[in-house]
Amino acid sequence: MQLNVLTLPGDGIGIEVTREAVRVLETVCRKYNHSLTLTEGLLGGIAIHKTGNPFPDDTARLCLDADATLMGAVGLPEFDNAPPEKRPEKGLLGIRRALGVYANLRPVRTYKALIDSSPLKNHLIEGTDLIIVRELTGGIYYGTPRGITGEGDEERGTNTMTYSRAEIARVTRMAFNLARNRRKKLASVDKSNVLETSQLWRKVVVEVAAEFPDVELEHILVDNCAMQLVLNPKRFDVLVMENMFGDILSDEGAVLAGSIGMLPSASIGGRRPNGAWVGLYEPVHGSAPDIAGRNKANPLGAIGSVAAMLEYSFGLMAEAAAVNNAIESVLNAGKVTADLKPKTAPLTTDQVGQAVCDAL
Ligand code: NAD
Repeated sequence: MQLNVLTLPGDGIGIEVTREAVRVLETVCRKYNHSLTLTEGLLGGIAIHKTGNPFPDDTARLCLDADATLMGAVGLPEFDNAPPEKRPEKGLLGIRRALGVYANLRPVRTYKALIDSSPLKNHLIEGTDLIIVRELTGGIYYGTPRGITGEGDEERGTNTMTYSRAEIARVTRMAFNLARNRRKKLASVDKSNVLETSQLWRKVVVEVAAEFPDVELEHILVDNCAMQLVLNPKRFDVLVMENMFGDILSDEGAVLAGSIGMLPSASIGGRRPNGAWVGLYEPVHGSAPDIAGRNKANPLGAIGSVAAMLEYSFGLMAEAAAVNNAIESVLNAGKVTADLKPKTAPLTTDQVGQAVCDAL
């Protein structure tokens, strides 16, 4: 198969983890005789430095030309006080919107080898295997009006949470389809006791559920869900929720997986101008300025995102399983970075990447 992949390493540890993810992608393509064409583009702080724009037009064109995009992370502390339009994170929202990837899949698994890395009691998290489906191109992160107006005591910040029926239905359908191929349980997370957007969300989810009689549906309020995720994560199979709830709850997933550096993600649902599906793959973590440039970052979330790309964008299930098995064997061998608190000396980012390539 011919794989045309765009890489957007971004900022901070995004660059370090993407380098290892690319090495793993090259290794798996060699092993299974696929032809890989890699192109690199600019996104985030580095793009602001080079072009003045966090999501340059060139990058927009490149990602629409590629079969799939592998992203690192964006964000540089020097832009912390910059206006929203000039922040690296604007690039992230820009690319998600440009590709129309409305569903962000965030699998959370507890690996046996990492059970002691979590601060939670082993018996609570052992066997956790869930997917958070986060709506990605709507909700409060995109809604208008927005902004800061006025002065003094009257200075006011405004954001708008808004969802259409169509936006809710398509992401819900995606989540039901995922659940259908897993343990057939879907939890829809909302705040329908307070928010009108959530009341519409719940109504549309119930309507879509009629198409999936084989999947058991439960509704859960977001505050209760935050609690249940640490009290009894094994009760969940697939969870679907709006953009900001998913952003927040999926970081809680990091506690279940042992480190935020472990979590991969896949953003899917968009189509290219020629009608082909398009996917955006990235680890859940950010650019981690506190450890950037020190070869300490855990690359396994980025490498897991390569597995997700092989599965969702290319349908290469054996190759995806090979990458996931390689990750598991590296974990079992204790070859991990410092965030996973190994009993022996931690490995560096590139040593872990090499270990995954060797396992493949
Ligand atoms: P972060 O995820 O970058 O870091 C949170 C903590 O987790 C830090 O202590 C960091 O060292 C640790 N960590 C993160 N990834 C790790 C890895 N792979 N290995 C080991 N440790 C890891 O979140 P933050 O500190 O809130 O944000 C830093 C910057 O990243 C900000 O500019 C933020 O806007 C940006 N950000 C970007 C994305 C993205 O590009 N998708 C996501 C979240 C945050």
